[in-house]
Amino acid sequence: MEGIAMENGVRLSKTSPSFLHANSTSHTWIFSAIAELIDNAYDPDCNASQLRIDKRIIGQKDCLIFTDNGNGMNPDKLHKMLSFGFCEKVEINGHKPVGHYGNGFKSGSMRLGRDAIVFTKQEDTISVGFLSQTFLEMTNAETVLTPIVTWDSKSRQILHAPDTQGSIDAITTHSFFHSEKELLDEFQAISGQTGTEIIIYNLKRSSDGMLELDFQSKPDDIMNLEHEQMDLNTTANAVYRPVVEHKPEYTRSLREYCSILFLKPRMKIILRGSKVKTKLITKSLSETESDVYRPTWLKKSMKIIFGFSPQKQDYGIMLYHKNRLIKAYEKVGCQKQNNSLGVGVVGVAEVDFLEPIHNKQDFNKTDRYNACISALGRKLDDYWNEKMPADGNNTTVNRCQKPDWTWVQCDNPKCLKWRRLPDGADDSNLPDKWYCYLNPDPTHNRCDIEEEPEDEDDVLRASYAKTYKKQQKLKIHSYQPPQHVQQIRELQSRERLLQMREHQLQTLQSQILLRNNEVSSSQDKEPKPSIKELERAKRQLMEAKRREEEQEEVIMKLMRQNKEVEMKQKKLMQEARQLKILTSQSEALLASTSDQPSVSSSSQNNRKPRLSGNVTVEDIGDDYIVTRNESSDEEITDGVNITSKAPARRPSKRKRHEGEDSDVIIITSDDEDDLPVSKISQIKREPQDVKPCLEELNNQTGVTTTYASSNGAQNPTELGSGYLEENENLKRDLHNLRRNVAELLNFLSADVKIDSDNLHQVDAIVDDLNKQNRMGQVEEV
Ligand SMILES: [Zn+2]
Repeated sequence: MEGIAMENGVRLSKTSPSFLHANSTSHTWIFSAIAELIDNAYDPDCNASQLRIDKRIIGQKDCLIFTDNGNGMNPDKLHKMLSFGFCEKVEINGHKPVGHYGNGFKSGSMRLGRDAIVFTKQEDTISVGFLSQTFLEMTNAETVLTPIVTWDSKSRQILHAPDTQGSIDAITTHSFFHSEKELLDEFQAISGQTGTEIIIYNLKRSSDGMLELDFQSKPDDIMNLEHEQMDLNTTANAVYRPVVEHKPEYTRSLREYCSILFLKPRMKIILRGSKVKTKLITKSLSETESDVYRPTWLKKSMKIIFGFSPQKQDYGIMLYHKNRLIKAYEKVGCQKQNNSLGVGVVGVAEVDFLEPIHNKQDFNKTDRYNACISALGRKLDDYWNEKMPADGNNTTVNRCQKPDWTWVQCDNPKCLKWRRLPDGADDSNLPDKWYCYLNPDPTHNRCDIEEEPEDEDDVLRASYAKTYKKQQKLKIHSYQPPQHVQQIRELQSRERLLQMREHQLQTLQSQILLRNNEVSSSQDKEPKPSIKELERAKRQLMEAKRREEEQEEVIMKLMRQNKEVEMKQKKLMQEARQLKILTSQSEALLASTSDQPSVSSSSQNNRKPRLSGNVTVEDIGDDYIVTRNESSDEEITDGVNITSKAPARRPSKRKRHEGEDSDVIIITSDDEDDLPVSKISQIKREPQDVKPCLEELNNQTGVTTTYASSNGAQNPTELGSGYLEENENLKRDLHNLRRNVAELLNFLSADVKIDSDNLHQVDAIVDDLNKQNRMGQVEEV
């Protein structure tokens, strides 16, 4: 022990006793101090598989006792644990020490009580160490003195060191162990070959004199009465979500805290005689998924486990550092918003690349830390959005159910492996002590079978497809709230309509522009007619059409009139011929009867013609048909009536004069009064027969008979003058008609010019028009 400073025969620690208290105050939360002692047992140089935490009353003092079955300590290690200024903690076989400063025991124990006495047992030696503020105070020590006594583990003989006697004196004077024997007896508390027992007494009390730790409320737990003072909610990140009354159970219950303190618990904790069921938190969640975070400064990706917590209100990120919980339920991402997003979701991450502060309840707020927290927030949001789509039906409560799997730890201290119970196994009836052979899974039902491998090393990507992100991108384009779909569709159709109209307008505009260009370029060649001109032309066209219609009407009228004129002409011609015949016949008659009284004379004597012979008279309406029976000797009636109808329609008994085309019917009557003279004047055709008939009649009767015209004319000249007069009238009418037509034609057509001296042109024009009209009709057909 050369080089070690001594004072009053005790090795000197050059730290002021007041530092013990100051050093402990970093643990504002009392469980934080307990965690330091648990860390010591868990640390690789101790490597305990079991830690008992008890409360005992020794020498009428409430004592908090930590007993592990670890490797124990030689006097040197014990000294380093109790003293300041030493740090030997190194990684052993991948088992990383938690305490960087070697300060855990000192700060933790001195936070819990004023005094601590350590019994440690290893294969060769057993030692007692004493860290007591009471002793230092009583002895007015200027520096921290740590009395240590060591014995041979087998012979139980004191292994003398320079300070051994002083140490025994100090311990037996200032602790409740008053003799060497009592000290040695206490080693029986360490049941195994090796191990360490730490007894902390003169436990801290609150201002009202009550013990800070509550051993009364729960016999198998240690409760924190002053949890309100804990510094867990001082985290700068959780600023938006209002601080809720709820505090996680682990802040009050040491049992709860112990259950989550290690990410992969390898050490069994027995709290006040009852095993702490470690939670193996990554395996206690439901709908567990993993995600990957790789900071730029890390070569290896970090795995993050997300899942729904069994306790809805306990949510957030569990930040572990080298397997040890640093921060619990840290709110990140959407969980910081002032709403209920992310409630129930627990994330678990082991952030070994960050640096815990010395009380191991937080990290140094470095850039890396902030980046890490941001990344965790994003990952948690991903998980939340994927698992809790905003359809309103899923509630966090529904999700916070039983864990996906039930994991149990073997109670064999040499095994302590975690076994996954088959699906559907009920973990509520598990025995207090569980061993591998109880596993229904035959592939993992022996302690010598390895644990199910963790897929820690092949962390490459998230365990679940983040379809939400893809869908969200799609939704931005496709999804609309149902109540707005109709409106939006209407708007879209209106927009399309507007676009269409705009396009039409543009087309029209371009057409107008084009036309304007054409107009401006063609204006020099051909002046554009004005609207007035156009209207005038239109009016002219209408007028022309109207005139054409009128013309057609007039033409029809003309045609009818022409026909009438033709008829009249024909009639006139016939009458003129008849007249001519009659005239010649009457001349001949007059010449042959020059010795006979003239026809006119016969009429002068007022004798009516008397017809004799066999004659029949047939009354046929307008005319009488007179038929003479040649052979008969019947008396001849006086008076004669000659009438005619259409030729060749006479009855067979009619007399037919040879050499003559027309029938001549001589009508005889018994009563001469029955044949008025007026009837004779009705001779209209074939008057050439009259002469022989009259001759015959005169001869037979001896009476001179003459003709009498209907108009009273006595001679042929007078008789023809009536026809001529009528003919003249017709000619006049025809002339007038032609003149009228000529005027009309002159009026209707500019091409036609008919002089009043040349009215015969009218007939030709009308004929042409008729022909054209007929052709037009044919064409139309
Ligand atoms: Zn086992």
